[in-house]
Amino acid sequence: MSLNSPQNVTVLGATGSIGKSTLDVIARHPERYRAYALTAHTSKEALFEQCLTHRPEIAVLDAAEDAEWLEAELSRAGLPTRVAFGVEALCAVARDAQVDTVMAAIVGAAGLLPSLAAAEAGKRILLANKEALVMSGALFMDAVERSGATLLPIDSEHNAIYQCLPAEHRGGLDRHGVRKLLLTASGGPFRQWRAPDIAAATPEQACAHPNWSMGRKISVDSATLMNKGLELIEACWLFDTTPDQIQVVVHPQSVIHSMAAYSDGSVIAQLGNPDMRTPIAYGLAWPERIDSGVEALDLFQIARLDFEAPDEARFPCLALAREAMRQGGIAPAILNAANEVAVEAFLGGELSFGAIAELVAGVMGMAQSHRADTVEEILAADRWARAQARGLLESQYGADLTSAEE
Ligand code: NAD
Ligand code: MG
Repeated sequence: MSLNSPQNVTVLGATGSIGKSTLDVIARHPERYRAYALTAHTSKEALFEQCLTHRPEIAVLDAAEDAEWLEAELSRAGLPTRVAFGVEALCAVARDAQVDTVMAAIVGAAGLLPSLAAAEAGKRILLANKEALVMSGALFMDAVERSGATLLPIDSEHNAIYQCLPAEHRGGLDRHGVRKLLLTASGGPFRQWRAPDIAAATPEQACAHPNWSMGRKISVDSATLMNKGLELIEACWLFDTTPDQIQVVVHPQSVIHSMAAYSDGSVIAQLGNPDMRTPIAYGLAWPERIDSGVEALDLFQIARLDFEAPDEARFPCLALAREAMRQGGIAPAILNAANEVAVEAFLGGELSFGAIAELVAGVMGMAQSHRADTVEEILAADRWARAQARGLLESQYGADLTSAEE
């Protein structure tokens, strides 16, 4: 890519936490990057504001009426940005021939098809949407391999591991003398809480993450440690390894973002302030480095780094995710779908915090795991798990879902 013409970047999920950080880094380097397409689900006003600032070629929303509204506002503002809507439009801006780089930052299973479209089209994919890889692991990695796409992890832990591994690490970690990956976890807001208090925690408490400012879904996942479970699965696919080679290390300061332990006793870590603009800038510029706007790390101010083992009795989601990865096939997609329903119910006041893991375990217990060779099979497993989770919510947790969206 020549430095004379900026790279065109599609930002899927532009109005979210990762999307905004991505646009912040892009705006620091107008000579290198241009926001080509921006997408959002329902936040049409926020997307309109972003269009005014970043002047993309295309903007995508979910619903036709929102797209109509945006089109009218943009034309009133004299902007030539084209507007589209729906999943097919998301996939189109991910595979668009004009696009070099796709930031996959939609939250949840909704990001699967557009992320996969970017992989199939051979783009440089900056993958924040971990749920897509958790659901479709083998299929996604095959698509990357076949198309020659460049897959760069944005999740801070995986970005850190990527930086700690040899440049060419495909073909299994053993071949490169890596003994273990050390996946760090902050432990979330309930790290030091007693089990009964955790069980009764409110959405506000769960979303008050000690170190990171993130969207609500991943904040709840961080509080249950399901986020670390999803990341364990994500790491298995990205680095071609198994759960036995990954050790979760609770590190409350979130300064070390993860590590690789080598057979000679060396442990290589990546450190930085907890700000997602660092991994985002890494992904945008790789193999070069650019300014991200993140302040330099002040080790004297941090003064100490602590480590402890995760408590899987108080945080059972980690073990559920490890089990789903061991089962393979559709099991991780089932885990993910049940978790998405549980988290939404928790945020909507329909489920207690303590019941999130129970609901996920309940759905996993009902599933017959099998291989998944096509994206349709994965999507069918996702739909099945959502229906089971909603059934359990109504029958066992007394949730009233009559008004809930399908
Ligand atoms: P967020 O909730 O702040 O933003 C989500 C974005 O996706 C928004 O732009 C929203 O409009 C869009 N979106 C939501 N539902 C959609 C749908 N059904 N169809 C199309 N678009 C939809 O989330 P976030 O915190 O930015 O996280 C995004 C992804 O990045 C998640 O997968 C998360 O796990 C991952 N991630 C986030 C962080 C972080 O610091 N926020 C760190 C690591 C990984
Ligand atoms: Mg992470």
